[in-house]
This record gives sequence, C-alpha cells and structure tokens, in this order.
Amino acid sequence: MDLIKARGTRRPSPPPGPIKGKLHRRRPPAQRRAGEGFLPQMGLPAPSRLLALAALAAWLCVWTLKPTPAWKIWWHGAEDWAGRWLLRDVGLYVLVFSFPPLTAAAMAYLHLHLLGRRPGWMPAMSNPVFVLNPLGMVSAFELLMAALFATLLAWTFFCGIARDFKKSTAEKFLRLHLSSLQVKVMQVGTRMGSLAEICLAVLLFPILRKMAVLKLVGVQFESAVRYHVWIGNLLTLLAAAHGAAVMSVWASKGTLLSEMTKWPRTGRVNPAGGAALATGLVIWVTSLPPVRRKNFHLFYSAHHLHAAFLVFFLLHGGDRHFYTVSSGALLFALDKLARVIGSRPAASMVSAKILPCRAIELTLSIKGLDYTPTSFMFINVPVISRFQWHPFSITSSSAMGGDRVSFVIKCNGRWTGSLYSKIKSIQNSDPAALRSFAVAVEGPYGPPSLPYERYDALILVAGGSGITPFLSVLREISAGRAGSPARVGLVYCVRRAEELAILGSVSHLLLKKKKNGFPGLVRVKIFVTREGNSSGVSARELIEAASQQTSTIVSGEESAPTTTAQSPSSLGFRSTAAVTGFASVVFLAALVGLSHGFLPPPGSPNGSSLATDLVVLAAFAIAAGCGGALAIALVRRTSPQKDVPALCRSHGDTDRESQSENERAPDGEPEISFGNRPDLQAAVEDLRGTLGAFNLGVFVCGPDSMQEAVAEFCRTHRSSGEGREAWKHILDFHSIKFSL
Ligand SMILES: Cc1cc2nc3c(=O)[nH]c(=O)nc-3n(C[C@H](O)[C@H](O)[C@H](O)COP(=O)(O)OP(=O)(O)OC[C@H]3O[C@@H](n4cnc5c(N)ncnc54)[C@H](O)[C@@H]3O)c2cc1C
Repeated sequence: MDLIKARGTRRPSPPPGPIKGKLHRRRPPAQRRAGEGFLPQMGLPAPSRLLALAALAAWLCVWTLKPTPAWKIWWHGAEDWAGRWLLRDVGLYVLVFSFPPLTAAAMAYLHLHLLGRRPGWMPAMSNPVFVLNPLGMVSAFELLMAALFATLLAWTFFCGIARDFKKSTAEKFLRLHLSSLQVKVMQVGTRMGSLAEICLAVLLFPILRKMAVLKLVGVQFESAVRYHVWIGNLLTLLAAAHGAAVMSVWASKGTLLSEMTKWPRTGRVNPAGGAALATGLVIWVTSLPPVRRKNFHLFYSAHHLHAAFLVFFLLHGGDRHFYTVSSGALLFALDKLARVIGSRPAASMVSAKILPCRAIELTLSIKGLDYTPTSFMFINVPVISRFQWHPFSITSSSAMGGDRVSFVIKCNGRWTGSLYSKIKSIQNSDPAALRSFAVAVEGPYGPPSLPYERYDALILVAGGSGITPFLSVLREISAGRAGSPARVGLVYCVRRAEELAILGSVSHLLLKKKKNGFPGLVRVKIFVTREGNSSGVSARELIEAASQQTSTIVSGEESAPTTTAQSPSSLGFRSTAAVTGFASVVFLAALVGLSHGFLPPPGSPNGSSLATDLVVLAAFAIAAGCGGALAIALVRRTSPQKDVPALCRSHGDTDRESQSENERAPDGEPEISFGNRPDLQAAVEDLRGTLGAFNLGVFVCGPDSMQEAVAEFCRTHRSSGEGREAWKHILDFHSIKFSL
C-alpha cells in the first residue's frame, strides 16, 4: 500500500471498518461512539465531584466578594459573632478561607477513587486554540482559566483602589505628612500587595504531585508545572511593585531606614516584608531558565527558601492574610511528606543495557507498582548525588504484571552522563557489582487512567528520547487490554540511525509482517535527520543492526531481591483524601485550641501580632505532623500486593513475551527517510488517512518545535467530515513534556 500522499490533499477518513487481527478487541459500541471525548468523558456528576466543584466555586465567590464594601460590613459582624464562641475569629478565617480548597482536594481524591480513578477530561483541555511564542501551545481551558484569574485580579484591584481614593482626603494627607501623589503611590503599592497575595494563594496547587487537585480535571503534574511558573512570575512582579512603591514613598519622606527597622507590637512588620521580598527575589532569580539549566542544584536549594518566605509573609501580613494562603501551603507540606514516605530507599537493579546511542536501559525490581502508560518516576543514584532526583518515563507496562520496571535514559547531560560512566565502568570491571548498585525511586506519577482509551486510533509523534513514554503505550496496547485503540501510527524522528536502538525492545511489535496485511496494529514512519542512506538499507535492517550493538549486564535477573512497594501509590486516593481531611480538621482544632490557651480574647488591647503568628505556625506544624503520621500509618497498613489484571503475563520472560506479541503484531514495513527536516504535518496527515479512524488521539513528546508543528496541524484539522458530519470526526492533541 502506498503510504505517501501529496501534502495538503486530504483524503476523507474511511469509516472505521472491522479490524482484522484476532487480538484487537473492539470496544463496546457505547465506548466507541463518534463524539466520544466530549461530555461523556466528564463522568457522571458524582456527589464527590459536585462537592469538590462546589467547594472551589465557594472559594472563588469568597475571593470575588472580599474586596466589596458589602463584604467588609458583613465580615466585621461575622468576626464579632465568632469571637464570642468557641470558634473565635481565627476559626472563622480558617473555615472561610482555608477549608474550601482543602475540601475540594479531599473530595477530588475520593472522586478519583470512587469513579475508578477516571478524571474529567474535555478536548478543550488539551487541544490548542493557538500556538504562539513564548507561551507555546495554549488550550481553551487554559485561556479560560487565565481570563478568570486576570478578571479576579482586575476586580480586586479596582474595588480596592476605588475605595482607597474615595477615602483620601486633604485631612488624611496632612495627618500622614504625605502629598496627594505619595498617598496615591502608597495605595497603589498596597493594592499590588493584595494581588500578590491572591497569586500566593494559588501558587502551590499546580506543583502538588501526590495531592494533585488538578487531577480532578485531568491536568497532570508535568503539564501543570508551567502554571506554577506563570503564577510565580506574576507574584514576583506584583510583590516587587508593592515593595518598590511603598519604599519609594518612605525614601522620598526620608524615613526608609526607620520604617524598615520598625517592629511594632501590632500591625504590619516591615522588616519581615523586606525579608519576604528578598527571599522571593532569590527564588525567582535562581529559577530563571539560564540559571536553572546551568546550575540545577542552586535552583533546587534556593526553592527550599519557600518555607522562610511563607514565615516572613505571615510576620509581615499577619495571620489574617496567612489563612488565605494556608490551604496551598498545608497541601504542599502534606505532599512533600507523602513523597518522603513513599520514596524507596533502594530499588534492586535487575539489568542494565548499554545502547549504541549513549543511552542506557535500566530494569529495576519493584514489587506492587501500579502505573499507567506515560507515567514517570524520579530516580536518585546516591553515588552520583544524594540530593538529585531526575524524572524518567516508565517504558515497561504494568498490564504485563510482574515486578520489573524499565527506563530508557539518554545520557547527554551532567547527571545522566555520570550514570552512563558508572554503568560502563561496571560493565568493564565487574558486572556482578550491578547487583549492589544502589538506586532509589519515587513515584510513579502519571495519569490515573489510561490516557488513550477513548480513541479508536492513536498517532504517536516522538523525537529522540521522547519515544520513551510511547514504549509503554505500545507494550500496553500489544497486551490487548480491553479499550485499547485498534490502530496506531508512530512517527519517530532521530538525528542518527544508531538512536533506533531504543526501538529494539519493541521491535517485535513494530517489524512483524502479517499475512492479511493492513489494517495492522502499527504503521511506522522514521525520519533520520542528520544522516544519508548511501547503502540503501531498510528501517528493519537499521533497527536490527542498532539493537545488535546493545550490550546487556544482568544481575542474576530472576533471583534479584525485589523492593517492596512503600510508594505514594500505596497511599491511594482514598487514603490521600483521609489525610487531607484529617490534617484540615487538626489545623482548625489546633488553632482554636491554642488561641484559647495562649491568646487574649479577640479585641483585647493586650494582643500582640507575634504571639498570634506563633500560634498559627504551631497549629500549622501540628496539622502537617498529624497528617504525616496518619499517612505513615496508612502506608504501613497497605498491602504491597496489587490486583493483577486479567490479562497479566509474567514479565521477564522475554522470549515468551516476544513470541506472543509476534503473533499479534501485524504490520507493514516501517517507512524511513534520511537527511531531511521531517514534514511532520504531512506525516500526521498521511497516517490519519491510512489509519482511517473517526476518533483519533495524537500524542506528541519531543522538542518544542515538534510539539508546536503537530499542535498547529491538530488545531487546523480538528474535523475532517463535511457539514453536519464534521463533528463526528475527532482529532485530539495531547502533549507530553520533558521539562518540569
Ligand atoms: C516527566 C519527564 C519524563 C522524562 N523521561 C525521560 C526518559 O524517559 N528518558 C530520558 O532520557 N529523559 C527523560 N526526561 C528528561 C530527563 O529527566 C532529563 O534529561 C534529565 O533530568 C537531565 O539531567 P542531566 O543532569 O543529565 O542533564 P543536564 O544537561 O545537566 O540538565 C539538563 C536539564 O535538566 C534539568 N535538570 C537537572 N537536574 C534535574 C533534576 N534533578 N530534576 C529535574 N530536572 C533537572 C536542568 O534544569 C537542565 O535544564 C524526562 C523528563 C520529564 C520531566
């Protein structure tokens, strides 16, 4: 079959006919309906999801109403009322400002557990509405969220500044010894501080790994990290504007030094504000891409100053401002604890393969690990660095059962380069030493459900090491799990042919010919960009030749000790919900209890800001500690055994695996082209026609330019049907990123 089609000619997709090939189980019709991927993917409106969404909506309402005069009046009344009861005003603040997001988080984990870990997903969440530098690909969901957030900031600023300007009278200027301009600069600066506080309130949510609230709407940690970066940049800008405005007024008055060293008994503590700003700027500067790229250690260490930043923020702004940001801080503290509890101190190395393209494939033995394709883990090798944890995609498949987990690592950087040298030296000196080569792992992290099961067909586009998440996808599909797409197209771009060795472990899936011909499981297009093909060898020969140059070091494979799962995955969604709920209640109880024990009644003239701040810090530490203790107890109680899927086969028996997969790997020869810059859009277009699916998911993992080219194609070719039929043809874009 001629797979090459002139660029730009769009062949109408043939209807998805019956799939030949005994192992391609069709999904039930209800699952394969055209149009699948829209609302049905949101799942039923379960009470847990409704409660989570209601809590988030309530939090948004609080932030929206907070700047209005009506809220001020109502809030003063509520504070007086709460002050007379056990709850006290501190309890009221926690209930109104901290509890809604904590409730949403707890409900989100419960929801993911109760509905079989199926998060909500809509095409609007991953399909780009535009592809624009330097923002990259932006989806409708991201655009909507950004617009909502910008509106909230604008609204808060407008309400606050309008009230400030109204209250600015000549009498006030005289009393403060300030000119009208100075007062206005001060007011604008103060409002900038309020906006920075809103940014701080949401800053930590996107980088929660275990306690990831955004999973509820299908946003994964590695995609959400950029929201953290955007919000962090905005926070720094607003905090700097706040500091600069206020300090410039003091400087013009000649009171900068006295203001910056004053530590009043109540009210704003300016030295703490200065310290918070300085700490924030250090964190920001060290996380700029050039610094982060060159000195990751500095970036990583400086980011730990966030704890000091939060304490300075509390001392400067007072407890009432801290409650607004405490939910994110508490979830982050619990998340960190869960990660520490869940990291395995030493996983056992089963084998290491050295591939010709300066890459290695590590296979570890980890019992009870439950993960989905495209998941990744953090790996730490203490002999290289005790503190560095690097993320790598899992290339094995948990559908095959067993306890062997594989990673393919391209070794072109500093840490990966050291790993390569260590493995090489073990190979050259004493291969038996591989058994005692200590590796620690943390994770897995990834989508809670199979990311592709809503599609009839997949197109996977990868560049270089970007192929790794797709190795597990290919293995998982070949295992024939119900709901897997029936047809797969793979576009793989490499610089040199030797990199094709990475495909070696799945070559039995990619290269086997089937008597009946197309439709087959996989259609492959390979682009080798920096080499020509003078000898005219085929893709098959190149993959086989590259694989043959791979050398393997084995550490007594079957007898290798197996690390028992003590992972965050053992702290399942239900346990995470329990820990979150428990820690929230402890925070409220500790705060109310300590304030009764150590603070004077609300409104008393003897109150000191520092005493209140210390009580808040103590309550926070108690809540995080109790949450951590519960998490440890739950992890210890959890059995490391996982349910083995019905389709499980014993892993490690490579021959058997290859043989059975050979039977189910009908395919044509991979196409290969050399020397040219690949025309990705034409390649995807061609595969789309060849696969002939109504309901197609396009997954991309590779450099930004590759992601953007394919995103642009999907954006402009979302529907291929004509007229009323157009909506039935689905073309969804999904990006997998290797940058955190
Ligand atoms: C979700 C995910 C999955 C990945 N899967 C794979 C895979 O399967 N195979 C593969 O080869 N690569 C994978 N990567 C990329 C891999 O993590 C990096 O190439 C590796 O961390 C670079 O380390 P280095 O010090 O050798 O490189 P350097 O060239 O020294 O650093 C390159 C970049 O890595 C960043 N970096 C350095 N140290 C760390 C750290 N401790 N944590 C995070 N980033 C760091 C630096 O900021 C720098 O920008 C993945 C990345 C992510 C985010």
